[in-house]
Amino acid sequence: MTTRAQKHLAEGEFWEQADIHHETMVSKLDAVGRADLVGRMRDCHSGQIVLKCVSCGSSRLVSNRCEKRWCPLCVSRLSRERRDELGFWFNTIKQPKHVVVTTRNTSSLTRERVRDFRRALTKLRRMKFAKNWKSGTWSLEVTNESRGWHLHAHLLVNARWIDSAELSKAWASLVGQDFAIVKVKDGRREDYLRELAKYVVKSSQLAGWKDLEIAEFMDSFHGTRSFGVFGSLVGQRSRWKQELRELRKKRSTCDCGCSKFTVTDSRIDELDARDRHRMNKPRVDSGCVVRGRL
Ligand SMILES: [Zn+2]
Ligand SMILES: [Zn+2]
Repeated sequence: MTTRAQKHLAEGEFWEQADIHHETMVSKLDAVGRADLVGRMRDCHSGQIVLKCVSCGSSRLVSNRCEKRWCPLCVSRLSRERRDELGFWFNTIKQPKHVVVTTRNTSSLTRERVRDFRRALTKLRRMKFAKNWKSGTWSLEVTNESRGWHLHAHLLVNARWIDSAELSKAWASLVGQDFAIVKVKDGRREDYLRELAKYVVKSSQLAGWKDLEIAEFMDSFHGTRSFGVFGSLVGQRSRWKQELRELRKKRSTCDCGCSKFTVTDSRIDELDARDRHRMNKPRVDSGCVVRGRL
């Protein structure tokens, strides 16, 4: 089998899985009366839209997206952009250390718990112990493998040296534990990007949770950022936004170099203004007609 054929096969399997996870999540949330959490996710990828390049006339088929952060069908694009962003920040850091800070598993997950965890992270960076942390990124991650909620964070820290014993002591005191598991690794680009591309929780795990657990998780992260930068990177956020605009433009450009398309969708009159706005600015991978998905 050629590499290209293998890639298409892998993409096919990916979408098949994503479809199942999407359907599972929607029906589990419906089962506990949480249609409010389903929202636009219900109709995600429900229709296909033809984008026709105005210059060369070539067409591609894409699907409508809900862009909800936990949607299994939208997560691949969101995590790709997260990966792009991490790569961008990684390049600005001279002495990257990959730091993981964890807390003990808990039986419930609440907004307060997520908020307190984030506050503890901020306090950690401001401690005397961390005064050599010049800059970095942080991202939250959650797992639950039937032994309770495991909330932890991955940080990419620009620091020459981080003492893990001291870190463990400092972090434990901030989260009210007598002991805390932490890790400090040399921040090798690929390892870090691979670990962080998970985007808070894997769709396969999220869809596998019990109905009430999915709702509990979504409620606790509602309106909360799960990723950020600190130190000298804060002042450079507009540079990343510019880079993202360029990446999106590049991805939506036709092979012929044109980035203007006409849009045909039988359901166009049913779509709301936000959808139409998105379609006028298609963010599509060039040549990504396979399975008609983004
Ligand atoms: Zn074209
Ligand atoms: Zn979606």
